Amino acid sequence: MAPAPDLARECPDCGAELDLTEAEEVGDLVDCPNCGAAFEVVALEPFTLAPFVDEEK
Ligand SMILES: [Zn+2]
Repeated sequence: MAPAPDLARECPDCGAELDLTEAEEVGDLVDCPNCGAAFEVVALEPFTLAPFVDEEK
């Protein structure tokens, strides 16, 4: 089994390491386990996260 690539990503808000898999795709949502912030994957090369804004108000 090949070692997983280093996909450690940090939460843009608090710097905590996000638990990501190799299967992230554009449009996926990632929750920070530390601060609970949600981010959307907006690009893969390079991997880019944007704050996810819940439009329900
Ligand atoms: Zn965070």
